[in-house]
Amino acid sequence: MALPLQQIVNALGCDFSGIDVSILIDSVSIDSRSHQNNSSTLFFAIKGLHHDAHQYINQLFEEGVQSFVVNQIPENLKGKANFLVVNDTLKALQDFATYYRALFHFPVIGITGSNGKTIVKEWLNFLLSPDYNIIRSPKSYNSQVGVPLSIIGINEKHNLGIFEAGISTVNEMQNLQRIIKPTIGILTNIGSAHDEGFSDISQKIKEKLKLFADAEVLILNKNKTIEAFLNKAIKTFTWSTLDRTADVFFQKKVVGNHSDLNITFNQLSFKVRIPFTDEASLENVMHCILTMLYLKYDQDTIQERVAELYPVEMRLKVKNGMYNCTLIDDSYSSDFQSLKIALDFLQHQRQHKKRTLIISDIFQSGLSDEELYSRISQLIISHKITRVFCVGVTISNFKNKFINTTAYKSTNDFINAFDSIDFSDETILIKGARTFEFERIVSLLEEKTHETVLEINLNALSYNYNYYKSKLKPSTKMMAMVKAFGYGSGSFEIAKLLAHHKVDYLGVAFADEGIELKKAGIEVPIMIMNPEMTTFRSIIQYGLEPEIYSFRGLKAFLKIVEEKGLENYPIHIKINTGMNRLGFDEENIPELISVLKKTKLVKVKTILSHFAESDNEEDSKFSKSQIAVFDRISTQICNELNYKLIRHLCNSSGISNYPEAEFDMVRLGIGLYGVSNHENEQKFLETVGTLKSVISQIRTLKIGDTVGYNRRFKAEKSTKMAVVPVGYADGISRKWGRGVGYLLVNGQKAPILGSICMDMLMIDVTDINCAEGNEVIIFGKEPTVIDIAKAIDTIPYEILTSISRRVKREFYRE
Ligand SMILES: *Cc1c(COP(=O)(O)O)cnc(C)c1O
Repeated sequence: MALPLQQIVNALGCDFSGIDVSILIDSVSIDSRSHQNNSSTLFFAIKGLHHDAHQYINQLFEEGVQSFVVNQIPENLKGKANFLVVNDTLKALQDFATYYRALFHFPVIGITGSNGKTIVKEWLNFLLSPDYNIIRSPKSYNSQVGVPLSIIGINEKHNLGIFEAGISTVNEMQNLQRIIKPTIGILTNIGSAHDEGFSDISQKIKEKLKLFADAEVLILNKNKTIEAFLNKAIKTFTWSTLDRTADVFFQKKVVGNHSDLNITFNQLSFKVRIPFTDEASLENVMHCILTMLYLKYDQDTIQERVAELYPVEMRLKVKNGMYNCTLIDDSYSSDFQSLKIALDFLQHQRQHKKRTLIISDIFQSGLSDEELYSRISQLIISHKITRVFCVGVTISNFKNKFINTTAYKSTNDFINAFDSIDFSDETILIKGARTFEFERIVSLLEEKTHETVLEINLNALSYNYNYYKSKLKPSTKMMAMVKAFGYGSGSFEIAKLLAHHKVDYLGVAFADEGIELKKAGIEVPIMIMNPEMTTFRSIIQYGLEPEIYSFRGLKAFLKIVEEKGLENYPIHIKINTGMNRLGFDEENIPELISVLKKTKLVKVKTILSHFAESDNEEDSKFSKSQIAVFDRISTQICNELNYKLIRHLCNSSGISNYPEAEFDMVRLGIGLYGVSNHENEQKFLETVGTLKSVISQIRTLKIGDTVGYNRRFKAEKSTKMAVVPVGYADGISRKWGRGVGYLLVNGQKAPILGSICMDMLMIDVTDINCAEGNEVIIFGKEPTVIDIAKAIDTIPYEILTSISRRVKREFYRE
């Protein structure tokens, strides 16, 4: 896009205040972290439920952004930048997308439904791309924000659009309809996802159908319930596996690891072979076939292309690579839009200085090759990529546009050269079109560990952070606890994300945890709660800040600061108010004050204490007494020292139960990781960690057969069982075995049989449809760590932090 700002002001009908309304805008952004933000970007400062992008405007201005859509102009920037002032910045983004969409006239496929939207979109893109220049929603951008951003990606060269629309409650679809304006509609299905947002199923159906208000045709599974709600003016094109009156009739047959579909349409009858056997995939394929038939594809082309369909992986995954590399695996797509997203993601992973990109030919940008690869080269430069490996005939022709580049004609050529390339201590983004099979490159680079992974959802973590933040006064600071390897979730990636959220402090238990974060480039101040005296020197060397809780520690620390010739070194004073763990007692305070007053070597940054039972909802007496003691002592210290210091007392439960004890800062721990100590609060949090593994082997037990050590399970009937390679050495408590606990296999509970072994456990899958190699869930949305903790009489903290370091952590964003 390239529009004068004036045209956007007119389209939005809003007030303008600023310096230059003739400036040309070529991109729109809502993400303050994007490194594509520049002087020709228009930044929409969106307000979320718990989050307001207005806080990033000053920083963006310093980085060169000149134009902003806001509902309030920051005082200090008046007359220095361009401001479009609106009441609602999200609505303005949607209005702009609506205006922009209307500038283009080509067929647009709009997809909604409870499941399968993204897969149908990706498959259609694959099936139709040989014949069209397609613009589609990147990833699962289907929300009130994602849809407008997808639409704004359209350029002059596109001639077909495929966009998905997702809603969670009423009155959302109208908005998406006016932005997408689909000419061809697809309704995948209506299931129970997001049910809580609707009063009943009919309300949900009505809302979804609004997407097709102006469509020339609607493709759907023939279904009387839905048809009853349809506006008679909409033409339908239906399929069925049961009802021969549908426009297209399918008969399916599963043969080994693929399926044969017999298609009857008009007088025509023909067969296609599909490399899937599960119901959901077959339905998705049927929607795609109907779209092809509607677009008048012939039988041969349909057969040929459908046979090539592949599993869709929508997430960007971060994995550990060999030789201390970090991999960002995006090996399933390669369009210009998703390249931008992936490069921004790479930029945020600052763990390594070196950044490497392995990239294939890019398809369907709508641009000429010359222009496309020039733009890609600009992106690569602005993201400070250290070196580039180009794979593919086309991209190789343009390799001179890139710096520090090696080019290969094919994936095979790259793999043959692999042993001669040196990879170490770098972040590697692997970004390739499906046909290049970059998963082969990923598996070469991947660290070889066993098949159990703890997946960490970074979006959920952000969500939880903002949830707690929204409970606080705007002036209250936040310390996030990332001790114990981020409560088992991984420290660097989480610290990095928290730094983006402008967290004020990070808290860890021991010096080496802090050192690891500093070495990886985390700049947020870090408090060390258990600074052993032997680590004082490295604490100072890495600029970490110790918590001081005793005179012995204070004296030793002062001595080392003095030796190093430093002054005003930041420290934190811990007060004991009843926990009776670490801290100065009330009777020590006069002496403490006199020592602190006399020295210039250290400066008290904060003063803290810790609740003993802030999660006790029955009795608040003890916590209230702790608040009173802390208030009294900390006030006294503040007064005597005569400079400003930050006071903090609350942990997660404290934030929820004692808002009066916010003081100047809070220390958020378990809540960040999606676990609340309070049932009524739990529903507001999102699940962060999911521990997964796979089935290694399946066997059938006869009556009387026994399982595992000491033969603690004995089959009383014929039993199908599965072995899963995860055991107590991975952190799964043995108390969860012997019929107490279960894993989830294909959505169903599989009880654990017998005792859990060191590296394995066995489960009962008698009534579950599953195969060797299938995924199993140990905890996540179900069972939750809270469920497990309750059943084995411990607390979720212990479950999370017990997951051993040998379990690979994989981080992803949706
Ligand atoms: C771990 C810890 C916290 C965080 O506690 P949560 O209950 O996980 O929120 C806060 N303060 C101190 C001193 C801690 O050790």
